[in-house]
Amino acid sequence: MIRNDIRNVAIIAHVDHGKTTLVDAMLRQSGHFRESQLQGSCILDSNDLERERGITILAKNIAIDYREVKINLIDTPGHADFGGEVERTIKMASGCLLLVDAYDGPMPQTRFVLRKAFEAGLHPIVVINKVDRPDGRPAKVLELVYDLFIDLGADDEQIDFPVLYASGKEGWASHSLEEKGTTIEPVFEMIVNRIPGPNVRPEDPLQMQVTSLEWSEYIGKIAVGRLEAGSVKVGEKVTVIKDGKSLNKTVEKIFLFDKLGKVEAESASAGDIAALTGIAEADIGDTIACAEKPEALGRIQVEEPTLTMLFTINHSPLAGKDGQFVTSRNLRERLYRELDCNVALRVEEGASKEEFLVSGRGLLHLGILIENMRREGYELSVGKPHVIVKEIDGKKYEPIESLNVDVPSDKVGPVMELVGGRRGELVEMDTVGERTQIDFTIPSRGLIGLRTRLLNATAGEAIVHHVVADFEPMRGEVPRRPNGVMISNISGRAVAFALDGLQERGTMFVKPGDDVYPGMIVAENCRDNDLVVNPCKEKKLTNMRAAGSDKNILLAPPRDMPLELALEYIEEDELVEVTPKVIRLRKKLLT
Ligand code: GDP
Repeated sequence: MIRNDIRNVAIIAHVDHGKTTLVDAMLRQSGHFRESQLQGSCILDSNDLERERGITILAKNIAIDYREVKINLIDTPGHADFGGEVERTIKMASGCLLLVDAYDGPMPQTRFVLRKAFEAGLHPIVVINKVDRPDGRPAKVLELVYDLFIDLGADDEQIDFPVLYASGKEGWASHSLEEKGTTIEPVFEMIVNRIPGPNVRPEDPLQMQVTSLEWSEYIGKIAVGRLEAGSVKVGEKVTVIKDGKSLNKTVEKIFLFDKLGKVEAESASAGDIAALTGIAEADIGDTIACAEKPEALGRIQVEEPTLTMLFTINHSPLAGKDGQFVTSRNLRERLYRELDCNVALRVEEGASKEEFLVSGRGLLHLGILIENMRREGYELSVGKPHVIVKEIDGKKYEPIESLNVDVPSDKVGPVMELVGGRRGELVEMDTVGERTQIDFTIPSRGLIGLRTRLLNATAGEAIVHHVVADFEPMRGEVPRRPNGVMISNISGRAVAFALDGLQERGTMFVKPGDDVYPGMIVAENCRDNDLVVNPCKEKKLTNMRAAGSDKNILLAPPRDMPLELALEYIEEDELVEVTPKVIRLRKKLLT
């Protein structure tokens, strides 16, 4: 049965293309929202880190009532390290809204999500946004959208997409370029008319697949998903069907989504996107089913981790100066809490009770956890990342990832060279317009530090996606490259440095007494053998003598991806010390 009072819509948009502004306009005009509540609100984008990195990390939902219909807006994650999450998110939707800036046009970052949406059979509505821009070129942008759809293998119906022109900022949308609209209503109308309601079985016993997990300090674990069949009430007994076993639990609270996020409800029924508590054992992919007649839905795939890192408390003599969470108990609690909602993460006890082995999906996945902890006030140290190698029939297999690099066509050469040097193998190359898409396979270990290098080699233009494909027999050594944006102690070792932003200018050796050049970033008051990657006290010098002074002076690279850089250069006997104020390499202390 199609539920006509609900529309589940995935929003696909490049960062800055105006998603927040458009959704705010929709909220405001839906008549349920007071102007004052909107001040400075960014309803879909709550995580600073997401905004800085230009990606959406965790899918979030809100719902807007339009006439008799509840429109669930499902935010899609923009990065493929969480590839499974994109698929799971899209699984909840019956259609999608592709939002495109009237000047920029579709951006390569949205390709991945859009491709998944097409594969899932979703029909898109294209909204060309910011048409008030004086430099806008909506007709050209529409052409680019067609090209992209053809390129991604859209079917006839998907190509025949409806288009709206909108200005989220001015709060209107229109069916034609000639006519300026007055309200945002055409967006609502289009969603209601073109996107089908969810096709569900309200009369059957309850079935809800857990598609994401959240965690709240006050209520613990929250299982989120769309009810495929039946209904559920607060206090009801349900069965959680896991891989191989079932558990009987009682639903404590039910939340549905509304304009502000979650609101408590007494019950949820087929077609609703609901969040349930009281089911702490639920994992992604589990089915929450009627206790009398439990039947599982087909399992959805959850990714295996590919990379392990040691997390430990910060043993540095300065430990506890920057952060408020510094004990192993703090660290343990935080990691286990993360486990509840971060699906691809694993945590094991390490050699001592202060050490934990944390495994995740690649460097970005673990890097985001570390960066979030740092911002929350944790001090910790992490070890060199190691890929997880499997032994199959006495042979060693390593994780191999599909890597997609999108670059301006004149930058293909350096990309091939960099990826090739890291045991990447070319699969396919495709030039559309001025940009070229290159598909490779590459060992996960070859990816460590690759993103930074690709950005350096392409003046920041490369767009890199990767997703673990499989385990394959080990490929050869990935050589370490000594040159690059690595800085080490000026008083002895080689110093490689970056001048003006991301441009890489090779290696240089600096000894006490040498000149330091304009553009270098210099940090003072550091200890021997520190690698200061993100110094708290940094200043840009126009010119100075390096070490006429008796202080240790270290050069620090630009702030870009400092953690990733530190992780690339770390040695076995070193740790990256991460505090709210500083990220630096230090020798491991014997404990
Ligand atoms: P998001 O990252 O996709 O959520 O984008 P935001 O809604 O935060 O908008 C990004 C930037 O574009 C902000 O500076 C907005 O003021 C601007 N912007 C958003 N919508 C419009 C629009 O319709 N017209 C114009 N000219 N600017 C807009």
